[in-house]
Amino acid sequence: MLKPNMHYTELKDSYLFNTIYRKTAEYQKAHPEAKIYRMGVGDVSRPLCQTVIQALHQAVEDQASMRNFHGYMPESGAPELRRAVSEYYKRFGVHLGADEVFVSSGACDDLGDILELFDQDNTVLVIEPAYPEYVDTNILAGRKVLHLETGADNGFLPLPPADRKADIIYLCSPNNPTGAAYDREQLKAWVDYANGQGAVILFDAAYEVFIEDPAIPHSIFEIEGAKTCAIEICSLSKTAGFTGTRLGYTVVPRLLERMGVNFNTMWARNRETRTNGVSYILQKGAAAVFTPEGLEQIQRNIAVYKENARVLMAAFDRVGIWYCGGKNSPYIWLKCPEGMGGWEFFDYLLNEIQVVGIPGEGFGECGKGYFRFSAFGDPDDTKEAADRLCKLLR
Ligand code: PLP
Repeated sequence: MLKPNMHYTELKDSYLFNTIYRKTAEYQKAHPEAKIYRMGVGDVSRPLCQTVIQALHQAVEDQASMRNFHGYMPESGAPELRRAVSEYYKRFGVHLGADEVFVSSGACDDLGDILELFDQDNTVLVIEPAYPEYVDTNILAGRKVLHLETGADNGFLPLPPADRKADIIYLCSPNNPTGAAYDREQLKAWVDYANGQGAVILFDAAYEVFIEDPAIPHSIFEIEGAKTCAIEICSLSKTAGFTGTRLGYTVVPRLLERMGVNFNTMWARNRETRTNGVSYILQKGAAAVFTPEGLEQIQRNIAVYKENARVLMAAFDRVGIWYCGGKNSPYIWLKCPEGMGGWEFFDYLLNEIQVVGIPGEGFGECGKGYFRFSAFGDPDDTKEAADRLCKLLR
C-alpha cells in the first residue's frame, strides 16, 4: 500500500501567520475606519529599479523576435549572470569561478533542494530563533534537528557548542528574525568548528546588502577555510526587490568535498535533474542588478529601508526598550516591555495603536517574550508607527 511522507504530520501548522492575519482582520472588521500599520511583514514595498525594468522590457522584446528569441536556459544559469555574480563577490575580496555560482528561482527553493546533497542520517544544527524553513525542510526529509537556543546574553549570536556535534549547520547573518550579524572572528570560530568535524555550513546571506559595518562579512567565503566547509545561499529578493520577480543564487565551492565526493559536481548534476533553469527574462533582469547603474540604483531603496530602521530604533531608544538588529539588517528584534509575552504585546499594540509586528515565538521557543519589526514598510507609515509606539510605551 502507498505510504505518504508521514513527516508532514510532524510540521507545525502556519499557526503564527494565520493567527496574525485573523486577529488583524477581526480588528479591521470591528474598526473599519482604522488604519493599521503593518510593521511585521518581511516583504519589500518599493518597486524594482529602472535599470532592471528596462532590462526586463528588452528581454520581453527579445522573446518576440525571431533573431533574439531564447528557449531553455542552462540549468545552472546563464553564463553572463553567473560571471556577473562572481564579479560582485570581488567587492568582498572573494574570488569565485563562474562555475561555483548557480542561479536559482530564489533562496527558498535552494534551501529545500540543497538538502538532496546530504544523507538522511546527517544531524542538523539550527540556531534558534530561526527562519522556519531550516527546520521544516529537514523534518520533511526525516533528519534529526538539534536546536541551539540563544538569548540576549550572547546578543543572539552563539558560538559553536563544545558539547554538540552536527553534520549540517545553518547560519544566517544578518539574521532573520533577530537582525544580529556575526563579525569575522565569530564566523571564523564556526568555520573552524565545521572543518574540524567534517560538517557543512549552509550560510544564508539573504540580507548581506544591509551590512554597513566593515567588521561584518557579507559572505562566509571572506573567512579563511570556508571554501572547504560552506555553501552560501543568497537572493535578490531583499537586495533588489525581487520577492515577486524571483531570482537567487547559490555558491558551491569546487573545494567542498566529503568522502571523495565533490559537492560542486553533485549540485551541477542535481540542477540537471531538478530544474530546466530560470527564465531568460528574469535572468536578464537580474544581470542588470549587477551593472554599475543597477548596483547604484538598488542602494536607493536600501537607503529608504535603512532610514525606516533608524526611525524605529530611535523610538525604542527613546522609550528604553532592549533590541538588537536594525543597523546591519532590516529587522529589529526587541524585548517585549514589562515581561509581556509576544501575543500579549501583539494584542496590546493592535488594540491601542493599530501597529502590527510578529511575536517572537513564531521563530522558535526561545523567541518567547520577543517581537520582530520590519523596516520594509512605507516611510510615512513607519514614522507614524514609531510615534505611536513612543507615546504608548513612554
Ligand atoms: N532566507 C531568509 C533568511 C529569508 O528571510 C528569506 C525570505 O524572507 C529567504 C531566505 C527566502 O528568500 P527568497 O525570496 O529568495 O525565496
